[in-house]
Amino acid sequence: MKTKLLYHENSFTYECTARVVAVEGDEVALDATVFYPGGGGQMADHGTISWYNYQDQIEASVIAMNKRDDVVWHTLSCTPPTVGTEVVGTIDWDFRYRMMRTHTALHILCGTIWREFGVQVTGGQMYPDRARMDFAMENLNKERIAYIEDKINEAVEADYPIKVYTLPREKAFAIPDLIRTKINLLPPQIEEVRIVEIVGLDLQADGGTHVNHTKEVGGIKITKTENKGKINKRLEIMLTD
Ligand SMILES: [Zn+2]
Repeated sequence: MKTKLLYHENSFTYECTARVVAVEGDEVALDATVFYPGGGGQMADHGTISWYNYQDQIEASVIAMNKRDDVVWHTLSCTPPTVGTEVVGTIDWDFRYRMMRTHTALHILCGTIWREFGVQVTGGQMYPDRARMDFAMENLNKERIAYIEDKINEAVEADYPIKVYTLPREKAFAIPDLIRTKINLLPPQIEEVRIVEIVGLDLQADGGTHVNHTKEVGGIKITKTENKGKINKRLEIMLTD
C-alpha cells in the first residue's frame, strides 16, 4: 500500500479526487492525497474530505495527519467512509500557501547564511504566523542581523526560480552543498533524493512544499534572536505582506 503524494508532484494542487484504501479508527488512507502530512519543520495541512453516502453529501474536517511508511493517514472529525469510497480532498489553501512561502523563506535564510558565513543549520520550525531557525553561529550582533535581513530581502527581490527534482542517492551524495544539510542522515533504503533548489542560492534534500519564485515569499523580517548556547543562535522570522 502506497499513497501517491500529489503535494510532491505539484505543490499548487489544492484539491483531488481519490479512493479510500484503508480505514483505522477515525483515520483514513487514500490512494492519492494533496494533504501534506507534516515533517521537516513544516506543519501538516488541514482541510476537508467529502463523499457521498447514497444521496447525502458528507464533509469531514481533517483534524490531524500522519505518515507511516509510504501511507498518508488523515484523521477525520466524523466516522470515515468505507474502503473503496471515492472522496474529494481539499486543503485549506490560505494556510498551505503561507506555509509554502514561509518554508521557502527559511531556505533563503539558511542559503544566505551559509553563503555569507559558512554556518550550518542545527534546527528549525514553522508556525502559522512565523518560523525559527537555529544556526551553529558564534557571533550574532545587531549589525550582523541587519546585514542578514538586507541580504535575504535582496534574494526575494532577485526573484530566483525554485526547482524541485529527484536525484539518485549516489549523485545527491556527491554534491557538497547537500552534504552540509546532513543528507547523510537519510535512511539507507531511500534510493531517490528529492531536491529543492533555489537556483543560485540554496540546495537541499527536502520533502516540503515551496513556491516557484522567491518573490512570492514577500518581505522577510527578523523579529527575534535568541542565544541557545555558545555556538548556537536562534533567528525568528515573519513574512511581511
Ligand atoms: Zn526545507
